[in-house]
Amino acid sequence: KKIEEKLMLSARVFSDTYEGILITDANNIIIDVNPAYCDITGYGREEVIGKKPEFISSGRQSKEFYDEMWHELQQHGHWQGELRHRKKDGELYVEFLTLSKLLDDHGQVINYIGVFTDITDRKQQQEKLSLMAHYDLLTGLPNRALFTDRFHQAIAHSKRAKSQLAVCFLDLDNFKPVNDNYGHEVGDQLLIEVAARIKAALREEDTVSRQGGDEFAFLLNDIESYEHCKHTLERIHISLAAPYVIEGYVHNVSASTGVTLFPADNSDIDTLLRHADQAMYQSKQAGRNRYQLFNTQDDKDVVNKHHRLAEIKHGLINNQFVLYYQPKVNMATGEIFGVEALIRWRHPDNGLIPPLSFLPFIDGTDVEIMIGNWVINQALRQLEEWNQQGIELEMSVNIASHHLRSEPFFSQLSEALLAHSAVNAHYLQLEILESSALGDLDAISKIIKTIQNKLGVNVALDDFGTGYSSLTHLRNLSANTLKIDQSFVRDILEDPSDYAIIEGVIGLANAFNRKVIAEGVESHEHGLMLIMMGCDQAQGYGIAKPMPANELADWLSNYQPNQEWIHFSKQQRSVKENKVKLFQLVARYWMSRFLGNINASADSVKDWPLMSGKNDHCGKWLRREQQELLFSPEGLARLHKVYEEFHQTAQRLYLRYQAGDIEEARAGLAEFQMTFDKVFQNSKMLII
Ligand code: C2E
Ligand code: MG
Ligand code: MG
Repeated sequence: KKIEEKLMLSARVFSDTYEGILITDANNIIIDVNPAYCDITGYGREEVIGKKPEFISSGRQSKEFYDEMWHELQQHGHWQGELRHRKKDGELYVEFLTLSKLLDDHGQVINYIGVFTDITDRKQQQEKLSLMAHYDLLTGLPNRALFTDRFHQAIAHSKRAKSQLAVCFLDLDNFKPVNDNYGHEVGDQLLIEVAARIKAALREEDTVSRQGGDEFAFLLNDIESYEHCKHTLERIHISLAAPYVIEGYVHNVSASTGVTLFPADNSDIDTLLRHADQAMYQSKQAGRNRYQLFNTQDDKDVVNKHHRLAEIKHGLINNQFVLYYQPKVNMATGEIFGVEALIRWRHPDNGLIPPLSFLPFIDGTDVEIMIGNWVINQALRQLEEWNQQGIELEMSVNIASHHLRSEPFFSQLSEALLAHSAVNAHYLQLEILESSALGDLDAISKIIKTIQNKLGVNVALDDFGTGYSSLTHLRNLSANTLKIDQSFVRDILEDPSDYAIIEGVIGLANAFNRKVIAEGVESHEHGLMLIMMGCDQAQGYGIAKPMPANELADWLSNYQPNQEWIHFSKQQRSVKENKVKLFQLVARYWMSRFLGNINASADSVKDWPLMSGKNDHCGKWLRREQQELLFSPEGLARLHKVYEEFHQTAQRLYLRYQAGDIEEARAGLAEFQMTFDKVFQNSKMLII
């Protein structure tokens, strides 16, 4: 009876259970199925008995799949997995199947049993969820998450295939008005159409995604060049610019796109997208309806500048800046009348950094103004301290044009003067770059007048000669002093055009009643030349290098004025004498430069004095004087003749030296010296 009850139970389980069950014989022929099987598949019991279970296969699984399944079933006695089958009415469904093999006492297969459930609904739910997680519901395009996934694949592909990948960021130009004026429904319709157009313009293997709002990102794989990429972008832009007809109304939008190319732009995914976004923004700024390639170098500069700016600010807060002071002297009297304050950065790791290595990074920023105010206050504090020690000096401070033009400049300067009221404002001089005054002549000239008249502060135009230096320009700027740029001073003895510029600047200063000072006076000869030209004030390494404040007192007490400069200034010279002096000065300078080179080893010779004999100082001087008729023509002709002789001798030695016959060149120096002496004698004779 017990056996009977057990059989009854088994029969009930078979017929009432929710899972479909099928039983085959050892040859895999169906011998029975339960009612649930019939419910799920739609087939009647009689229809399936005698068939192989695979008859309902959908064809969605490969032969290998079934082979694998059978193999595992034979090996382990069971198999589990998902299958796609077709119901009698043709509808696809997904079943979760467990297959088992039944053995007799001898281990022979007698039956196979399959138990399965219909998991189609669950599957569909799952797919919908993943769709929602990966696709933008409005346009059906991949969303950010899936895009990132594809992006990783594309980068990997690009690295493997050594091909270029274009990362593009697109933003519609006039989408907002459509949304605002016609409503979100219309806006949505338009976005759907935009998505379709972009997709149609791309290849199958490219990925386009909606990033939100009216922003789209896309990846172009295997780009050959930027040119190649441009074709695609043009196609997209043209397609997007065609009118959109929605609910009977015509709408027009365009697009702005930014592109960056991997691996030229070798950044991570987030950065690449940000770069494309930045380039897109540039397209917008350049007038919309265009595309723009991201410039990696620009970005590096921006990042670098940003970094440096923060570092400089940090340096200011932590007191890392110092002022060095370079003396300014009157060469004619030997008097030291002032100093120029020059900033340096005492960097904890990198040592003393000169101003031109860090000032460009703060150009036009708030930090420039902060530093500028620090410099003014620090210089005034120092001046106050020196005044207390009985040292009276004019203090020059360099002012950046951005600072000068900033709104609170005047009040900040007055406050600084007020805070150091022991200092006479006349002793403060602001140096403004001539070139920076050009930008906004009216505004700058107004500021200069105000600080001169209301505060009594002096103004110098720095690096004068590097801007326009025109008459009208100078008439409009009421600067007290012109500071001749050192680049002209450096070559004044060698380069006649630099000489001419300085001559011009000094003439301009005299005509407008301004003071003039030369910077970059490195040698004794520079000084003599400037004195002769009428510029007595000077600053330069030939006098003193910039030094820390605590060294200045010592320097002042040890200072020995250049007696030759003083003597030379005191000499009364006629116009003729002055001219001859000039000739001799440049001729001697040229000679000593040349001599120095011939006597030096070839690898230490950097450059030669002008060798043409026509464009050199003396040659020009001779031609000018032959026109001016100040000296006797015979005297000039004699000088010209010996000068040419001298020059030819020099030319010969130069060619020997250049050819490597250095000893031979040096052997000719006696003759060279002799011809030079003749030149000198003949120049002297001009005045007699
Ligand atoms: P600058 O105002 O024309 O200053 C003269 C520069 O020439 C200084 O360089 C000085 O050291 C250098 N110098 C002076 N005599 C000679 C010489 O005989 N031979 C040579 N080769 N150089 C000489 P420094 O200190 O490096 O300053 C460079 C520039 O940086 C300055 O040119 C000025 O434009 C700017 N600067 C310096 N300090 C400040 C500051 O506190 N504020 C602002 N805004 N700019 C500053
Ligand atoms: Mg200066
Ligand atoms: Mg200068």
